[in-house]
Amino acid sequence: MFQLIDLPFKEDQLAPAISAETIALHHGKHLATYVSNLNNLLPGSGFEDKSLEEIVAAATGGIFNNAGQILNHNLYFTQLQAPSEGNHPTDELAKAIDEQFGSFAAFKEKFTAAAVTLFGSGWAWLASDDSGKLHILQMPNADNPITKGMKPLTTFDVWEHAYYVDYRNRRAEHVAAMWQLLNWDEINRRYRQ
Ligand code: MN
Repeated sequence: MFQLIDLPFKEDQLAPAISAETIALHHGKHLATYVSNLNNLLPGSGFEDKSLEEIVAAATGGIFNNAGQILNHNLYFTQLQAPSEGNHPTDELAKAIDEQFGSFAAFKEKFTAAAVTLFGSGWAWLASDDSGKLHILQMPNADNPITKGMKPLTTFDVWEHAYYVDYRNRRAEHVAAMWQLLNWDEINRRYRQ
């Protein structure tokens, strides 16, 4: 049985970038529903003893969709912290971003475009491949870089439920605010792992 993760911040701590109301709904309703759906689908599926990563790599249909959404949201919520201006990557990942994208500003511009232009519901990802090369990916619905054999590093959720309460249809404003919330030490830890 999978459990709803605890948030590493208080519900109101991401405001004004993301409101307490959005976090309460996003974590307490949307993510909680994916957890309960997956737990209902697992018995008899052959995936009962697998990790979320193993399920996402191998499953299809409802099991893939719910496991993918749990994994994606776990990675999303655990990379966030209280807003701070001038937030930037650290250590090895900062170096890799500079080498491969030219600068953090150039990377931000490309990643922002991926998040803003993704059609419909899905996720923008920064992922690394086996050689350590970084990739910006637009992935629909519940998809995760694991399905391409890559390691997920950071992600922006651009399903409307992630921003509609606070920003209505203004996805670009939500995406711009997301940069204040990233915990780059956690993202760098994922990169080194
Ligand atoms: Mn979401």
